[in-house]
Amino acid sequence: MTSNLSKQERLAALRNKVAEKNKSQGEGRQKNYAYDKFYPFYKADIGKSITVRYLPDRNEKNPLFYAEKVYHEIEVNGKKHRFQCHYHESGKTESCPCCLASQDFYARAKEAEKRLGAKHPEVEALKKQGWRFYKRVEYVANIVVIDGGEVDPNEGIDPESPVYGTDVRILPFRKQIYECIQSGLTDPELLTAEPHDFEEGHNFMIKVTAQGENKSYNSSGFRPKPSALDPDLTEKVIGELYDLSEVQIVPRFDVERIQNIVDEALGNAPAEPAKKASGNVPKPSRVADDYQEEGDDEHSPAPSNAESVSEGVQSKASSILNRLKNRQS
Ligand SMILES: [Zn+2]
Repeated sequence: MTSNLSKQERLAALRNKVAEKNKSQGEGRQKNYAYDKFYPFYKADIGKSITVRYLPDRNEKNPLFYAEKVYHEIEVNGKKHRFQCHYHESGKTESCPCCLASQDFYARAKEAEKRLGAKHPEVEALKKQGWRFYKRVEYVANIVVIDGGEVDPNEGIDPESPVYGTDVRILPFRKQIYECIQSGLTDPELLTAEPHDFEEGHNFMIKVTAQGENKSYNSSGFRPKPSALDPDLTEKVIGELYDLSEVQIVPRFDVERIQNIVDEALGNAPAEPAKKASGNVPKPSRVADDYQEEGDDEHSPAPSNAESVSEGVQSKASSILNRLKNRQS
């Protein structure tokens, strides 16, 4: 078994070696082929499975192998708007008009509930509005496809794209797969090392099962047997890793544009003024369009301290990973 230190040094050296190459490739990736990096695992049919290996985040500040993406999805006059949450986008320094609208509705629902009771239609309507403006969460991770079955590792990539033929793809996932990851991380019997460890990690199997007429990913999980990635493949994928903090699943709108959408949704304003998106904004996400999970549209009431719940889970996963890391040495 290699010591942690030498492993880290080796990884650092490899990262440096390919940093230059990535810099030039990075721009091309963002500019014209914004969504080519996403692996459309959800194209797999019910009864099939896909095996992937999670890889580390190129952003070394992230102790996890995945990152949370927070966005809003709101329909106004038949048009669906998707954009990153401004609060999260600003590093939690500026408030988000859409989150504020949601909080306002939930606060009013709470007040109304005291007067009218939880089941009153007015209370239900206010909660529904709160949920309409509430943030959505999706996760992204670097992966290499070990066995895609019918979903080719290059599925969905334009052959002209600079990422065609590369091995690293981004796995976009929601609650179901997230919970399968968490239950694997918290199972004391299952993992012997960090799942994204190149030499001693664990592959992850995405199992597609039926839940009524929908696909479910609830039975996914880490493979109990650890395995090493091929050393040549390891070197290649280290050069291709994405910085998850830079991965966008939906466009980034400036705060005025978000405010306009919120105003329009509240019926306070005429149609959103035609505003040119500023900067390097990719087209709306194909990922979110194609990918539905059971329960996506439920307007479950938001927990009052939603922010700290989410952060608590993240830091819990991070401490589990640290424990696994220490177990190796
Ligand atoms: Zn927001």
